[in-house]
Amino acid sequence: MTPTFRLGRVAGIEVGANWSWLLVVALIVWSLAAGVFPDSNPGLSDGTYLAMAVVAALLFFVSLFLHELGHALQAQRDGVAIEGITLWVFGGVARFRGEIPSAGAELRIAAAGPAVSLVIGAACLAFAVLVPLPSAVDGVLHWLGYINLVLLVFNLIPAFPLDGGRILRALLWRASGDRRAATRVAAAAGQGFGILLIVTGFFVAAFGAVFGGLWLAFVGFFLLSAAEAEVNMAEAHMALTGVRVAEVMVAEPVTADAGMSLQRFIDEIFFAHRYTAYPVVMDGETVGLISFRDALPVPRDRWPWVLVRERARPRDEILVVDAASDLADVVPELARHELRRALVRVDGRATGLLSMTDVGRVLEVLTVGRAATTLAAERQKRFTRTGRPALPRT
Ligand SMILES: [Zn+2]
Repeated sequence: MTPTFRLGRVAGIEVGANWSWLLVVALIVWSLAAGVFPDSNPGLSDGTYLAMAVVAALLFFVSLFLHELGHALQAQRDGVAIEGITLWVFGGVARFRGEIPSAGAELRIAAAGPAVSLVIGAACLAFAVLVPLPSAVDGVLHWLGYINLVLLVFNLIPAFPLDGGRILRALLWRASGDRRAATRVAAAAGQGFGILLIVTGFFVAAFGAVFGGLWLAFVGFFLLSAAEAEVNMAEAHMALTGVRVAEVMVAEPVTADAGMSLQRFIDEIFFAHRYTAYPVVMDGETVGLISFRDALPVPRDRWPWVLVRERARPRDEILVVDAASDLADVVPELARHELRRALVRVDGRATGLLSMTDVGRVLEVLTVGRAATTLAAERQKRFTRTGRPALPRT
């Protein structure tokens, strides 16, 4: 889930929101002000209900955020880098940068969020029940306590990618030592639960509660596709494990000279080869990367007068990976990088080029049908025989 706008930075963690989040904020405020609070705390003014609804919705998102922060801080403690937290239509997502190293770490990270929800829910309800408060404050606290506990229970359903599903995967992983199989089982539970929600949702909608039913089905669709995506990711990770960057990269990419004009770059290099990006070379060293897109903002009549190095991405903005690295370790970072390509260091010099397109091609070859293992063996054979990359490249 990519954030559309930034909300701020907490404990060094970037917090953002997706546009879909605003939709839910509006929906919650409306349903609280028009339905929930007038029912639970009758006799207050419309203005009070609206104020209660706005405060409750904000605090609800604060508690969602704290739930995700629980995951994120535990992840940091377990050595998993955090990219950020995004609030969106189904709550929050903590985005991790690395792989979770062990079943124990996965278990702790998955449980940390629900633990936070439990504390918030219990504290709000205890406060509302035990301390005499004005009706409006009491109403907001009751609802917050209740909604956090509902969230807790929903999140603990053992269906991937819900927290309960992650806990299930961690337990299976720990018991069997097989992460891939554990992912398959947890994801199958997620898909089953997703389908159940969709069917239930349509029934509920058919019997009158149209909005609630459709919402349920919508959540079901989301779970179903998220579980599928997770399986695909795990399969891709497995397929790419053991493949070296050197086998997939373009070993001697077409380069552009730092001192040449954009006009020559476009005419002689871009139109002649039609790759998306080219390493920029000065005195035999790679100093950057240039793509057709980097040239585009310059007006055409200026092309003869602007040099390639003026438009190139400097070296420090480019991902550089090692030729000997495992593709499975490199791909997550590559996929996230804005350029979706990396320079490859061979013998200490950045001479190769690796793009997500190269990776996609390899993945297709490696995962088509059940031929993956045969192909992997074949690849191994050819690689050792010729000492050259053996995967098909177009
Ligand atoms: Zn969670």
